[in-house]
Amino acid sequence: MSEFSLIKQYFQNATNTHTYTDVGIGDDCAISSLPESQQLVSCVDLLVADRHFPLDTDPYAIGWKSVAVNLSDLAAMGATPYAILLGVSLPTADNDWLKAFSQGLADICQQFCVQLIGGDTTKSEMLTISVTALGTIPHGQGILRSGAKVGDVICVSGEIGNASFALQQILKREKNRTLQSALDLPTPQVELGQKLHGFAHSMIDISDGLGQDLGHILTASDVGAKLFLEKIPTHPILQSLPNPEKWQHQMNGGDDYHLCFTLSPENYVKLNTEYPNTIFAIGEIVTEQGLQLFSDGEKVDFSVNGWQHF
Ligand code: ADP
Ligand code: MG
Repeated sequence: MSEFSLIKQYFQNATNTHTYTDVGIGDDCAISSLPESQQLVSCVDLLVADRHFPLDTDPYAIGWKSVAVNLSDLAAMGATPYAILLGVSLPTADNDWLKAFSQGLADICQQFCVQLIGGDTTKSEMLTISVTALGTIPHGQGILRSGAKVGDVICVSGEIGNASFALQQILKREKNRTLQSALDLPTPQVELGQKLHGFAHSMIDISDGLGQDLGHILTASDVGAKLFLEKIPTHPILQSLPNPEKWQHQMNGGDDYHLCFTLSPENYVKLNTEYPNTIFAIGEIVTEQGLQLFSDGEKVDFSVNGWQHF
């Protein structure tokens, strides 16, 4: 199959046309017109086979996740996703693989009204996927890492540690894969991110472990935090693990794609009343620098490291 027929068959019509798009796939570049009231929000993520996902990962999941991780970054600013560009380099043009991959990509784009507006396709030894995502946000409404204030409540948007546990099951070649979809098919918290405009002082998505990612908020905001580990929403399977093992998945594991954000105690009460069981308070922002961990009232000595490539 030629490069051009591959693009035509699997990508050109994979998604619906968004109202912002004037020119989509097929020319040298895409052209978009954004409403004047909005700022452009953009990000890119690179996924390399065998590094970001095991080589035998379901191609549908690879397509889904390569978009999901970017929509999660947009969500972490409070942005509304608009479009993606897809760079893909493949060892072979395998029809079954491409069909499943493009279906996973198309399904998540459909769910979040995102259009694939362009990309690039090449051949290489190692499967590599780079997705660039574009979104919009009303002027001045972006929620940054740097806005946390002393006294803020620290919240997360759901269960933490499930993806890390699922990855461990795969690496140990265990048959029980109960939490696999948390790893393979994460749901970016786009709707919640948008609701947090005017409420959250700071926000990040949890891709490299709660400990490290919350650490980015603390550093950027020049504050510290107390975290109450028993308050972290936890799946029953993780709840049954010994504490250090559970905390390892939750604080240092990655790939959860939940949001971690801080807001005033008043706003926490307001949001928690309006959207029950959507946001979960796990700690508070304090003046003293660093991250202090507590479990059932006792201070815990647990080393936070999280994922780093180098
Ligand atoms: P150029 O040579 O100008 O870079 P290409 O021949 O690489 O253009 O691509 C032709 C068209 O197909 C362009 O509009 C490009 O954005 C689009 N395209 C190429 N690969 C992909 C892909 N993987 N996903 C989506 N669009 C793609
Ligand atoms: Mg090109």
